[in-house]
Amino acid sequence: MPLLPARPHPAIFLDRDGVIIENRADYVKTQQEIVFIPGALAALALAAREPGYRLVVVTNQSAIGRGVLSPLMAEAINDYVRQQVVAAGGRLDGLYVCPHAPGAGCACRKPEPGMLLQAAEALGLDLPASVMIGDSLSDIQAGRAAGTRTLLVRTGLGAYFEPRLAEAGLSSVPVLADLAAALAYWLS
Ligand SMILES: [Mg+2]
Ligand SMILES: [Zn+2]
Repeated sequence: MPLLPARPHPAIFLDRDGVIIENRADYVKTQQEIVFIPGALAALALAAREPGYRLVVVTNQSAIGRGVLSPLMAEAINDYVRQQVVAAGGRLDGLYVCPHAPGAGCACRKPEPGMLLQAAEALGLDLPASVMIGDSLSDIQAGRAAGTRTLLVRTGLGAYFEPRLAEAGLSSVPVLADLAAALAYWLS
């Protein structure tokens, strides 16, 4: 019997800062600075029960490229976030970090779609069936560039960016209160 080709999975791409944990103007640099956004962990646990979906974090961490945060500490912070997600009953199937400073010309810093494309290749993702959830214009633009659907949340910088969607030609992007609302919207 011939093997069926692996069926690509839809993904829920998630920005980290401003979506899962609180944004900090001076970057999240230590474990002590991690504050989970209310409801985010519970929402991720619910999403983890959806069959077939892959849950993938894609995060710009220019603090590394700026020399404010060591790659090792960045990894420790992401490990901690992942542990807390798992402890709450959720999971992350992938976690991609752009460590580069703006202007470095990399292909991974959002609004570039590099991290999403890399994840799609590694995890066998169906990008048109996927969604990118973020609090910044660059999240929406990265999702668009990768060919996913997009949702803006009002947490983090989202309330700032919501009135700026229109001037970026993105007024059709749905805006939800937070990650819990965005996941409920997407999965309904
Ligand atoms: Mg963000
Ligand atoms: Zn990069």
